[in-house]
Amino acid sequence: MNPKVTIDLAKLRHNARVMTEKCNEYGIAIAGVTKVFGGRPEIAQAMIDGGIQYLADSRVENLKKMKDLSLPKILLRLPMISRVDDVVKYCDISLNSEVETIIALSQAAEKQHKTHKIILMVDLGDLREGIFDSQALKLALDEIKNLKGIKVVGIGTNLTCYGGVIPDEENLGRLIAYASEIEAVLGTKLEIISGGNSSSIYMVQEGRMLEEVNLLRLGEAIVLGTESAYGNVIPGTHQDIFQLEAEIIEIKEKPSIPIGKIGMDAFGNKPSFEDKGVRKRAILAVGKQDIGTHAIRPVNVNVIILGGSSDHLIVDITDCDMQHQIGSTLTFDLTYGALLSLMTSEYIYKQMNDTKPRP
Ligand SMILES: *Cc1c(COP(=O)(O)O)cnc(C)c1O
Repeated sequence: MNPKVTIDLAKLRHNARVMTEKCNEYGIAIAGVTKVFGGRPEIAQAMIDGGIQYLADSRVENLKKMKDLSLPKILLRLPMISRVDDVVKYCDISLNSEVETIIALSQAAEKQHKTHKIILMVDLGDLREGIFDSQALKLALDEIKNLKGIKVVGIGTNLTCYGGVIPDEENLGRLIAYASEIEAVLGTKLEIISGGNSSSIYMVQEGRMLEEVNLLRLGEAIVLGTESAYGNVIPGTHQDIFQLEAEIIEIKEKPSIPIGKIGMDAFGNKPSFEDKGVRKRAILAVGKQDIGTHAIRPVNVNVIILGGSSDHLIVDITDCDMQHQIGSTLTFDLTYGALLSLMTSEYIYKQMNDTKPRP
């Protein structure tokens, strides 16, 4: 059924294996991040078969879908205080920065006769989530250290998300210093020091990761085979695990400039056009409702994306050698944003392929 995202599970297992082997070499465990594919258990299982040690997702709903998978589950987005019961029920560990929420988690855990583990998030300058300085960290610890329902098992940080700040020895050095402060207050060693996401991989590759860091939370690096500090491809990984296939519903030769007075397009922008004469154009049955405004890249380099609207993608196929017809499909590689939108769209079919049997 079209349009669809195809998912090559064998390639996904491979990428997960490459990343875990590389990181485990340095004593770093991997939390495989499943949010970009909506926590679908069959896809998460491929990451597990590739060797990841934790499952991590930003949404409780996704962790609930994966409740029968055996690995410990980490909630990546700070919990909503209104939903602490589900957080305790479906997640083993959550990332936290607000004392109020941690107190509510503790109460929820006590009700469920559980101990809920938390990782305290500190902000090292990227300005998304996290406790901002040493003073605030001390105050928070004073309030939570004696809570019965929770256990502080680690510290973590998130970089290169809002502010684009790249992890390095200086900012991750501050993470380690914060870890020592927590250990001094609690009188125990922290189990987990989580040094970031796919933007931290370059430090591992260059042998520069601080030795205290023992967990990375990786989505993009596994799913797309790219690191996100500099956007480089990770050697030995696949970049085409997830692809979009969309079906041609019209092929016609038309001029490259619209005819008439030009006002606004369907999204309120004034379009501009380059005159290339009459071109062969195809319309595909997929649109901004499915891919957002995110980039996709035709696998066939001779296909040129002209634009689209909510439900249509218009491409120029004049330079393609291949014969296209009504009903045939074109294939696209995906950026992280496009993949996120496509996997979330109910109009996109998801087709899992497995070229090699599971190990
Ligand atoms: C999404 C997310 C990650 C994974 O990020 P990638 O760049 O895909 O590796 C890690 N940590 C947190 C807190 C996240 O929200």
